Amino acid sequence: MRKLIVAGNWKMNTGIEEGKKLAEDINKYLLSKTLSENKKIIISPPFTHLYPISKSIDFSKIILSAQNCASTENGAFTGEISAKMLKELGVTTVILGHSERRAYFKEDNETLFKKVKIALKYNLDIIFCVGESLEQRESNKHFDVIKEQISGTILKLNKDEFKKVIVAYEPVWAIGTGKTATPEQAQEMHQFIREKIKENFDEEIANNTTILYGGSCKPSNAKEIFSKKDVDGGLIGGAALKVEDFSKIIEAL
Ligand code: PEP
Repeated sequence: MRKLIVAGNWKMNTGIEEGKKLAEDINKYLLSKTLSENKKIIISPPFTHLYPISKSIDFSKIILSAQNCASTENGAFTGEISAKMLKELGVTTVILGHSERRAYFKEDNETLFKKVKIALKYNLDIIFCVGESLEQRESNKHFDVIKEQISGTILKLNKDEFKKVIVAYEPVWAIGTGKTATPEQAQEMHQFIREKIKENFDEEIANNTTILYGGSCKPSNAKEIFSKKDVDGGLIGGAALKVEDFSKIIEAL
């Protein structure tokens, strides 16, 4: 059975104390619930928060993720954080390929593939984000864009490596805009991605791959989006910053 996941991407938000409190509140909420074995909850705080949060959460309830890692292993790369450093903190997952990293930090397939390989070397799970811009969707190029983003990266992995990958479909036009893809648009793209995984690997791997939706997912729309056959949960930005909203999204899973 594939995993169903709600993952919070905090981006560059919250101070350390505020972030610690948010993580503790999510932890407290999860302690009061019994989630079925295939449901997992991930939080991705900023780098500076990972160590204090790692000391105050219950790892059996929350998976700790980073939002990025370096494409190199170590050395003279001022300002970078390596996969090995993350691993030492108790981080087990890393988000790679977020559209903000692609747009503002010019991360392309080549860089992202290096990051994926290094993350795997340190046994990190990967939430690999893909998504098209509004212009690409309006000119009907969205399937080609997603195909290119996965073919040049995660589909180049071998089967064992790929088992560590969670895909997140995040249409850029829906991120932080309040504009959500319709459940049908999400389903259509998730099905397409699963089909490409099947063609590249096999049916079993495709069926076992978790594909998350991201883009203005909130308590009011999560249930409908998550009800689609190929949507296995969500990557949540803004609504992951309030325990009330995040917990309602978890309820929708
Ligand atoms: C994201 O940045 O991954 C995201 C989905 O953001 P939001 O939920 O705020 O649109």
